[in-house]
Amino acid sequence: MKPSATAAAGQAEANHADPPPTDRAQATDPQNPLQPAQHRQLAARAIGLSKVYGSGDTQVRALDDVSVDFARAEFTAIMGPSGSGKSTLMHCLAGLDVASSGMVVIGATELTGLSDKKLTQLRRDRIGFVFQAFNLVPTLTALENITLPMDIAGRKRDADSQAWLDSVIDTLGLRDRLSHRPSELSGGQQQRVACARALAGRPDIIFGDEPTGNLDSRSSGEVLGILRQSVSALGQTVVIVTHDPRAAGYADRVVFLADGQIVDELREPTADKVLDRMKNLEQV
Ligand code: ADP
Repeated sequence: MKPSATAAAGQAEANHADPPPTDRAQATDPQNPLQPAQHRQLAARAIGLSKVYGSGDTQVRALDDVSVDFARAEFTAIMGPSGSGKSTLMHCLAGLDVASSGMVVIGATELTGLSDKKLTQLRRDRIGFVFQAFNLVPTLTALENITLPMDIAGRKRDADSQAWLDSVIDTLGLRDRLSHRPSELSGGQQQRVACARALAGRPDIIFGDEPTGNLDSRSSGEVLGILRQSVSALGQTVVIVTHDPRAAGYADRVVFLADGQIVDELREPTADKVLDRMKNLEQV
């Protein structure tokens, strides 16, 4: 990692060290279950989260009273059998779906009760996304895709944010691809552009929904290495959903879901350990 990226990361951390005024007000609210000290350490938190789809005979409880914390500068993989609630949990955490009950907190901001406009702003300004299908705009160049969220937000490119952008582009090896459109890039390069787009805005947290699901093993390794490095060297917080034990092996921590509940957790995972736990879960 280049020194400039590390310096910029330090600045990003400094920028995030103090919550904005509205969050400060929440921090002193005795009704708020978050303690001030945790505000500084947690990037995201789910408290008693439940999500029910449908009603009557067709009712499905996709999440059943899930409480989980995501510490800053940590890489977490969410795993579990198909239908266990992984996508639902990630979508609720990222403000893309609304839980039936419970609470989601990003940084020090509680999502419950935010207006659509505030939620859209929060997603745009404080959350980065990396999707399985890359989700790049085909008519825009790589650079235009990377800066799109900032451009939509009307954020000025000052010297600090330009330096950060440059270091992200160089770190991800995209400098000589910036004028290419997505169709002129390999899958791995497209996902690197998506990672750069997520990192460029220095979000509180990056969510990845099967980010390597469409990639061959070499490109997967590259993209996971980039996510790993963004956590280790830049202090970024990353949470991915994956079914791939090798991908989970890049994380600091794996959270296992089954039937909408967190049933297990593994720290310092290896692909073999993750595979073992997954086999146990699938046998239950
Ligand atoms: P996973 O990502 O682990 O495969 P999901 O979160 O997609 O699991 O789904 C959890 C459960 O919720 C599954 O039983 C699924 O069928 C159900 N589900 C997910 N989305 C919807 C929806 N929009 N309407 C009804 N049921 C849904």
